[in-house]
Amino acid sequence: MNAVNQRIVLLGPPASGKGTQADRLSEAFGIPHVSTGVLLRSECDRGTALGREADAATSKGLLVSDEFVVRIVANWMQEHGTRFLFDGFPRTVGQATHLDATLISLKSPLDLVILLELSDGAIRSRIRERISCLKCGATYSTSLHTHAEGDPCPRCGAVLVRRNDDASEALEQRLIVYRDLTLPVVGYYERTAPGIMHRIDAGEGSDAIFAELSRLVGNE
Ligand SMILES: [Zn+2]
Repeated sequence: MNAVNQRIVLLGPPASGKGTQADRLSEAFGIPHVSTGVLLRSECDRGTALGREADAATSKGLLVSDEFVVRIVANWMQEHGTRFLFDGFPRTVGQATHLDATLISLKSPLDLVILLELSDGAIRSRIRERISCLKCGATYSTSLHTHAEGDPCPRCGAVLVRRNDDASEALEQRLIVYRDLTLPVVGYYERTAPGIMHRIDAGEGSDAIFAELSRLVGNE
């Protein structure tokens, strides 16, 4: 049996299910799930200067600087090692090249890059129904009527809210940013590491996507 892939990048637009799938994979394979969104929000909660900078940018649907993001990720790797499942990172070609340089210096190149693809129409309808936990990053859909805004997070007990950047104006800005800055990251990996790049249709059911992801991570 082949070794499990353990340095993984999961890419995809807002509401493609990256966070949920990363959680499930993390549990199934014992690989730490690292969301730069959660790392950033922890900076914001602690009210650091970097946290305030991040807050100002994300409430407008903008991105914080590549240098800032790669710095907090590199700090995380120093503390936790080079087994990871990155969720929505790298978000720009600049972040991807910085990440590659960091991983080369650690002699730990990426094993797998997976893009979850979803249409703009499906993204918009999923976001309209989405509530999130800002503490642990879990997301839930209000369409199932099991969770509502203001309820406690089933996982950690914090309050479920609609994120600032899920408001429709900010979402449209995020879709533009995704198309202009993140989709080129896919092109970057297709050029530099075509053997590890995969695409999955995120319009499928959550279990079908998870099965496909599991085959890739498990190297089957
Ligand atoms: Zn939570």
